[in-house]
Amino acid sequence: MPASRPILVVTGGSRGIGAAVCRRAATEGYDVAVNYQSDANAAAQVVQDCQGAGVRAIAVQGDMASEADVIQLFRAVDGDLGPVTHLVNNAGITGPVGKLVDADPAVIRTCIDLNVTGAILVAQEAIKRMAKRHGGKGGAIVNVSSAAVTLGAPNLFVWYAASKGAIDSLTAGLAIELAPDGIRVNGVQPGMIDTEIHAKSSHDAGRLARTLPAIPMQRAGTPDEVARTILFLLSDASAYTTGAIVRVGGGR
Ligand code: NAP
Repeated sequence: MPASRPILVVTGGSRGIGAAVCRRAATEGYDVAVNYQSDANAAAQVVQDCQGAGVRAIAVQGDMASEADVIQLFRAVDGDLGPVTHLVNNAGITGPVGKLVDADPAVIRTCIDLNVTGAILVAQEAIKRMAKRHGGKGGAIVNVSSAAVTLGAPNLFVWYAASKGAIDSLTAGLAIELAPDGIRVNGVQPGMIDTEIHAKSSHDAGRLARTLPAIPMQRAGTPDEVARTILFLLSDASAYTTGAIVRVGGGR
């Protein structure tokens, strides 16, 4: 049965910014595929909330650093919802904070594998289905970058900042490459957002409070504040916007 609603894939949709995107997208009439790596209960709750908004929603487990899992995600979406029309390339990690000189190379590699290689492979699978020259309907992609691209994240995780720099290059290049295919590609650079990434990935739960004085708006952002910007970039309200990278950082 052909889907009448746009079909959104969100990588890392079980928690944080990704979960907020899923919930808001459901209220705006998208069918939603919630990818997650390990937290099945959180993903199931997001799916339930989306379905409560009256749309179709599925959870798909998969490590977005794994090529096989990326392919399997999009096949599952093909089968259960239909071909993807919108993508939020969101799954990302930092690794524990520290100076580069002290960082375990395995931490750096794991971060780059997911944040860069994974995000590129996710985009590739989506494009195969969305591009008009491949028989798709076109659509929109939003890549989740970070304010770390310009701040550099010194003494925290410069490897992570570098990974998000790559994501902004991906946005710039794909926006031009895919314009003839009817696909818009934009990015967001969140600043300090109140999610579990600080405690669980950075192993530095206190960083959020420590950073507040450096934020002009003197507060962290909420996941939903990032989600609202992402939904704008996915929607026809931004129909002439491609290759844009929007800072969502409270002035920082
Ligand atoms: P978060 O709260 O830690 O949530 C991360 C999400 O990604 C979870 O759903 C997690 O799923 C999933 N995930 C982790 N590793 C994965 C993998 N290998 N494959 C698939 N999914 C995976 O993170 P967040 O703060 O919402 O961050 C989301 C994005 O925003 C990231 O790209 C991050 O770099 C970026 N960002 C965040 C901030 C911030 O201050 N929070 C600032 C700038 C940029 P499971 O729980 O199932 O493992």
